[in-house]
Amino acid sequence: MEKIPVGILGATGMVGQQYITLLNDHPWFEVRYAAASPRSAGKKYEEAVAGRWHLAKTYAPHVGGLIVEDANDVNRAIAAFKKGDCSFVFSALEMGKDETRSLEEQYAAAGIPVISNASAHRWTPDVPVLIAEVNPDHADIIPVQKKARGWDRGFIAVKPNCSIQSYMAPIHALTKAGYAAQRIIVTTLQAVSGAGYPGVPSLDMIDNIVPYIGGEEEKSEEEPLKIFGSIENGVFKNSELPKISAHCNRVPVTDGHFACVSLEFGVKKPASMEEIIKIWAAYRGLPQEVDLPMAPKQPVIYREENNRPQPRKDRDTDKAMAVVIGRLRPCNVFDIRFAAFSHNTVRGAAGGGILNAELLKYKGYLG
Ligand code: NAP
Repeated sequence: MEKIPVGILGATGMVGQQYITLLNDHPWFEVRYAAASPRSAGKKYEEAVAGRWHLAKTYAPHVGGLIVEDANDVNRAIAAFKKGDCSFVFSALEMGKDETRSLEEQYAAAGIPVISNASAHRWTPDVPVLIAEVNPDHADIIPVQKKARGWDRGFIAVKPNCSIQSYMAPIHALTKAGYAAQRIIVTTLQAVSGAGYPGVPSLDMIDNIVPYIGGEEEKSEEEPLKIFGSIENGVFKNSELPKISAHCNRVPVTDGHFACVSLEFGVKKPASMEEIIKIWAAYRGLPQEVDLPMAPKQPVIYREENNRPQPRKDRDTDKAMAVVIGRLRPCNVFDIRFAAFSHNTVRGAAGGGILNAELLKYKGYLG
C-alpha cells in the first residue's frame, strides 16, 4: 500500500518529536512535511532539533533533511499538498489558544484535515474530541462540520487532555458493562514532559511537587462530559455524569501521568473487585474487525502486584499505548478506588493522535 504523506505542525517540540519517531516505520503514514515556529523555519529538521532532541529513538534520515516550514504560513502546506507531500497534518502547536484555533481552521479551510493535540478546539461545538476506543462514533460529526463550514476536504478532529487518558478507558469499560460512574474524585501526579520543553524550571521540580497546573483541573472535570456525550440531531449533547472533582499535581517524573481514582457507581454496582478486573481484561473498545496499527492489543491492563503501576516500569507497555491499572480496592467513601497510569506524550498525545488518524482513515475521512 502506498503510504499517505503527512505533515507535523509543531514538529520540533516535545509532542512533535514523538510524532516523528512513532511514524518512522508506520505502515500507513509517512512524514513528508514539517513545520514549527518562525525560529525553526528555513532550517533542516536535524538542525532545528540539534541540542534539544528529547527521545532515545531518533528520526528517519529523510526527516532530518526536510526543511522546516513556518506553521503560520498555510500557503507552504498548500504547496506541499499540491506536490503530494502533505495529505493531512497532525497539529502539536504550542501557541496562544486564539492563534491555534484560527490557524487550524485555515488549514482545514484550505482542504488539509487537522488531527490536533492542542486544546484550542476541544470545546468547539462541531469538533469531535476523540479517544479511539471510547467514542469512535463521535467522528460522525465530521460531515456536519464540513457542511456547516463549507469545507470540502478539510476538517478538524482533536484529542483530549493527556491526564484524563489514564482513567477514561477503565471508566468506559465499566460503563459499557452497565456500571456507569456517577461521581469521581481523582488526584493526578503528572510528568514534567506534559509541560513541553523547556517546561517547568528544574529548581521548581527537583525534590518537589507543584500542586497546580494551569487549566488542568477544569479540563479534567469537563472534557469527559463531551467524550461520554452523544450526537443528537447533528450536535453534541454532553453527558451530565460523572461529576468529577480533580486535583492535578506536577511531579518530578519525566514521562507518564498517574491518577488515583475514587469512584461511585449508581444503583447498579459490580458484585466484586474480581468482576471489575474481568471487565477490564475483556475490554477492547474498538470492534474486533477494526485492526489499527497503533491500537494496543489490550487497552486496559490490570497489574495484581500491590506496587504497580509505576512510571519507569509501565510507561512503555504495548507501544506506550496501554493504560496500566493497579491497586483496585473498596473505597470507604465511594465504591471503589484504584491507581491508573498512561504515557502522556504517547498515549496522551502523539500516539493517541496517530490512533485517531488511523480510525478516521478506517472510517474513510482520510486518504
Ligand atoms: P513544546 O515542546 O513547547 O513544542 C511546541 C511546538 O510549537 C514547537 O514545535 C514550536 O516550534 C511550535 N511553536 C511555538 N510557538 C509557535 C508559533 N508562534 N508559531 C508556530 N509554531 C510555534 O510543546 P508540546 O509539549 O510538544 O505540546 C504541543 C501541543 O500538544 C500543545 O498544544 C500541548 O498542549 C499539547 N499536548 C501536550 C502534551 C504533553 O504531554 N506534552 C500532551 C497532550 C497535549 P519551535 O521549536 O520552532 O519553537
